[in-house]
Amino acid sequence: MQKLFFGNIKMNQTPSETQNYLKILIDKTKTAKSKIGIAFPYTNLNIANELCKNSNILVGAQNVSAEDSGSFTGEISSKMLAESGVKFCIVGHSERRKLFGENNAIINKKIKRLMQVNIISVVCVGETKIERDANKTKVVLKKQIEECLQGLFENELKNIVIAYEPVWAIGTGETPTTKQVELALQHITQIVHSSFSTTVNPSLIYGGSINESNIKFFISAKACSGVLVGGSSLDPIKFAKISSI
Ligand code: PEP
Repeated sequence: MQKLFFGNIKMNQTPSETQNYLKILIDKTKTAKSKIGIAFPYTNLNIANELCKNSNILVGAQNVSAEDSGSFTGEISSKMLAESGVKFCIVGHSERRKLFGENNAIINKKIKRLMQVNIISVVCVGETKIERDANKTKVVLKKQIEECLQGLFENELKNIVIAYEPVWAIGTGETPTTKQVELALQHITQIVHSSFSTTVNPSLIYGGSINESNIKFFISAKACSGVLVGGSSLDPIKFAKISSI
């Protein structure tokens, strides 16, 4: 199956920087066999869509409002994203949970908004270092997944990618072992199967301090359909190398 390689530009790049970035990335990934998606800042979506029109690259967003429309100053709705050509959206990233107070109930609303307009939700879950050390990884993942996916229909899971992103591995250079990733993905599968049915096969990816040297360990992990890359996606040459593994 085609592996998924998602990049997260976070709050980096002006529109003209995205233009330069994509010129390089599109050229370097022309013959890529994997599915590549990059989540840009809102202001860069137009230029990104324009440039990616005839490429292999899917344009994504990093956030969406939990509301449909109205008096929510500064928010961007799922309909706006859909009309801007966005194909996927990251939700529940640990930075949004920690810095902007997003909880599972809000993330659940966001996923439902994205469902309405057929945008794929890349739902981030994962434990902190304290939770891992206290042996709470499984409990944390269960709560996050059950609450984030609450009320979804089984056939909607095809529009969901679950990203296992241990918080302690994000931007730290510290990574779990392949075995730890495999155990977490196995556990996530069990949680999904107990909430829906065992015939569901959710897309599961790993994210946290991926680079050109360690990508081979994660992409080969059992049940791993791909990766979500932060820091190393900011350099188009590095990201092209990662996604060509
Ligand atoms: C992320 O922010 O989702 C992420 C995986 O970041 P990094 O690759 O920099 O650890």
